Amino acid sequence: MTDTALKIDKEALKRKYAQERDKRLRPDGNAQYLEIKDQLAHYLEDPYTPFKEREPLTDHVTFAFIGGGFAGLVTGARLVEHGIKDVRIIEKGGDFGGTWYWNRYPGAQCDTGSMIYMPLLEETGHMPTEKYAHAPEILEHCQNIGKQYGLYDNALFHTEVKDLVWDQTRSRWIIRTNRGDEFTAQYVGMGTGPLHVPKLPGIPGIESYKGHSFHTSRWDYEYTGGDPKGVLMEKLADKRVAIIGTGATAVQCVPHLAKACGKLYVCQRTPSSIDERNNEPIDPEWFKEIATPGWQQRWLENFTQNQAGGGAEVDLVQDGWTDLSRLYREKVISLAPADRTPSKMMEAMEDADFEKMEQIRQRAERIVKDPDTAEHLKAWYRQLCKRPCFHDEYLQAFNHPSTELVDTDGKGVERITETGVVVAGREYEVDCIIYASGFEVGTAHTRRAGFDMTGRDGLKLSEYWAKGMRTKHGTHVHGFPNAFILQPTQGAALISNVPHNLTEAGMTIAMLVRHAMDHDFKEIEVSKESEDAWIELLLSGPGRGGGVLGSPDCTPGYYNNEGQPPGPGAAQAVGYPMGPVAFFRYLKQWRESGDFDGIEFR
Ligand code: NDP
Repeated sequence: MTDTALKIDKEALKRKYAQERDKRLRPDGNAQYLEIKDQLAHYLEDPYTPFKEREPLTDHVTFAFIGGGFAGLVTGARLVEHGIKDVRIIEKGGDFGGTWYWNRYPGAQCDTGSMIYMPLLEETGHMPTEKYAHAPEILEHCQNIGKQYGLYDNALFHTEVKDLVWDQTRSRWIIRTNRGDEFTAQYVGMGTGPLHVPKLPGIPGIESYKGHSFHTSRWDYEYTGGDPKGVLMEKLADKRVAIIGTGATAVQCVPHLAKACGKLYVCQRTPSSIDERNNEPIDPEWFKEIATPGWQQRWLENFTQNQAGGGAEVDLVQDGWTDLSRLYREKVISLAPADRTPSKMMEAMEDADFEKMEQIRQRAERIVKDPDTAEHLKAWYRQLCKRPCFHDEYLQAFNHPSTELVDTDGKGVERITETGVVVAGREYEVDCIIYASGFEVGTAHTRRAGFDMTGRDGLKLSEYWAKGMRTKHGTHVHGFPNAFILQPTQGAALISNVPHNLTEAGMTIAMLVRHAMDHDFKEIEVSKESEDAWIELLLSGPGRGGGVLGSPDCTPGYYNNEGQPPGPGAAQAVGYPMGPVAFFRYLKQWRESGDFDGIEFR
C-alpha cells in the first residue's frame, strides 16, 4: 500500500462522491442546454473561412463522404490508394479538419499521444513535433492529407447535406444539400463525428447579454487578438472576461486567457480532474530510428494492447491513457491468484481509482496557492466519470493575480444579465463571455447530423434505429445498401484513440468497394441474418453495466446522459465483447479473407 492509500477513508470518500453528484443532478438532463438556432444562430457562424458562392451541382460521383474530418480523410485516402479517385467529401466547415477545423481556441492540443492520434503519419511522412501536438499542426496535417490524396479537387466546403435517399432503380444515392446541390453517388460514407454541434448552457437571461460573446469552437481572434499558435491575445489586456465551463476545452484555453485578460472569471460547475501532462518535443533523430516501415501500425496496436487489452511487454506510447490502464492493471495483478474474483478485481480497481484521484486532489493543493481556490478545484468523482484532463499550466493559472475561480457549488451560473454573469446572487460585470459549454451528445441523431437517411423501400434510418442502433461492425446497416458509417460503437469502441477506429473502418470500406468494382457488382449490403447475429454477439458481452464510464453513480455529464436513465437502445451502445485488440484482429482477417462474410454483393 502506498502512503496515499493509507490515508484514504473509502467510506467517507464514497459518501462525499455521492453528495457531490446529488448536488448536480437535475431532472431536465440534456434539456438544460440550448440548441443554437434562431436568434442564437450567429454562435454557429464560421469565423475562419469566408463563404464562397458557387453553382449547385447535379452530377454523379463514385463515392460521396459526409464530413471532412479524420473519418472522411482516412476513407478518402484509402479509396484513392485502392484506385477509386472519384471521391467527393462534403463538409460544413470551410476546409478539411473536422473538430480541428473548428476548435482553434488557444492551447488546443491532442490528449492522446500524437504518434498514434494523428492518422496516416507514415503515409504522409510527417513527424509530429510534440508528444501531444497542438491544433495548428493537426489542422495542417489534415490539409496535407487532402492535398496528397487529391481530395480537394472534388470537395464541397461550407455545404451541409440535408437529404440522402436511396434510388433503387439506379442503385445509387441522391444527395441534396443546403447549397441547392442534387447529385448522385454510388456509395456514401458518413463520418459526422460525435461532438460537432456546439451547445449553450440554458442559463436564464443568456439572450439579454449586451457584451461580446462566442463559443470556444468559433474562437473570435478578431476580438481577442493573438492566434491559434498561442500568440498573446493582446486585445484582452483591458478586458474583463468570463469563461463558462471547466471541461477539457476550458482546461486548455484558460492558461492562455489568464496571461492575456485584464480580469478573468472562470465559472465552474464541476471541476475536471487535472493530472500531469508532461508534453515534450519529439527528437527528429529518435524519430528517424523508430520510423521503420509499418511503425505507426505497430504503435497503434501497442497502444490498444496497453490501453484496452493488456499483455504488451512494452508501452511505446506512454501517454495519459496507457498510464491510467497500467495503474489499474498493476492493482489487479497485485492480488493473490485466489483473490482474482470479479468482485475483488472491481474492488482493486476502485482502490486504484481512489488513490489516483487523491493524488490528483493533492496536486491541486500543491500547485494552487490560495487554499480556498485549491479546495474548490478538487474533483470528487471516479476518474472516468468525466473526461480525464492532463495539463501542466491549468491549475497554475489560478495563481495569476488577474484570474478568479467563480465556483457555483455545482449549481451553474444563476443568471446572465445585460452586463455580466450572476453567481450566488453576486453579479460579475464582464466585457466578454466565452462559452466552453461543449457539444450536443444525447440529442436525436437526426438533429445533430442535420438529415435523416432514406434507404430501400423508403425506410428511414431514424425509424430503423428507433429502439437502438443496429449495424454489423458499427459500419454496415441492413436496408441501406452502399452506405457506410464510421464511428466506434458496435465495433472496437476504443474511445481513448478514436482515429484508430476510423482508419480501420476506412481500410475496410476501400477494400469492399474495390472488390465490388472488380467484380462488377452494383450493390453492397449486409444481410439481415448477419446484422442480427452481430447484435446478438454484442449483447452476449458484459454490456455497459459495472463499468465507471456512463455509470449512473457518476457525477452528471455527457458520459452518463447527464445522470438521467439511458435512452432506448442503450444496451446496444457497446463494443465487441472480446475488446478492441480482438476486434481489430478480427476485422483485418475479415476484410483480407476476401469473403466479407455476411455481406451480399449484387
Ligand atoms: P464539456 O461538455 O466537457 O464541458 C462543458 C462545461 O460546461 C462543463 O464544465 C459543464 O459543467 C459546464 N457547464 C454547462 N452548463 C453550465 C452552467 N449552466 N453553468 C456553468 N457551467 C456549465 O465540453 P468541452 O468542450 O470542454 O469538451 C467536450 C469534449 O470534447 C471532451 O470531453 C473531449 O472528449 C473533447 N475534447 C477533446 C480534447 C482533446 O482531445 N484534446 C480537447 C477538448 C475537448 P458540468 O461538468 O457540471 O456539466
